[in-house]
Amino acid sequence: MKDCLFCKIERGEIPSEKVYEDENFFVIRDINPAYKVHLLIIPRKHIASVNDVSEVDDAIFSSIFRVAKKVAEILGVEESGYRVLVNTGKDAGQIVFHFHMHFLAGEKLREL
Ligand code: AMP
Ligand code: ZN
Repeated sequence: MKDCLFCKIERGEIPSEKVYEDENFFVIRDINPAYKVHLLIIPRKHIASVNDVSEVDDAIFSSIFRVAKKVAEILGVEESGYRVLVNTGKDAGQIVFHFHMHFLAGEKLREL
């Protein structure tokens, strides 16, 4: 998608701090971290939100939690703990309409 922020980051048109990448996902540091560790796990493919996930994307999303686990190992928080979440739509406060999973860690997280 031409004007999508995360597609631009994926193409290298906007700089980011990349923590991990594989064929389906790239993982960057959130520019405005809410916690000591705040990453975004982003599919290379432009999928706007959970509402737009379809069967053809199953092959991509089947590995998303393994990416999270890998990232936890890289950051050294697999024992201390972490939270992954996906905001979808207005009430959840989704701002960027290219699917992304927040990865939060590094300190005690607020209870939900
Ligand atoms: P959401 O509210 O779930 O759509 O979250 C979007 C996230 O993207 C927010 O936490 C922003 O801080 C983050 N963000 C916005 N622009 C950038 C950027 N250029 N690089 C990294 N993270 C960004
Ligand atoms: Zn996009």
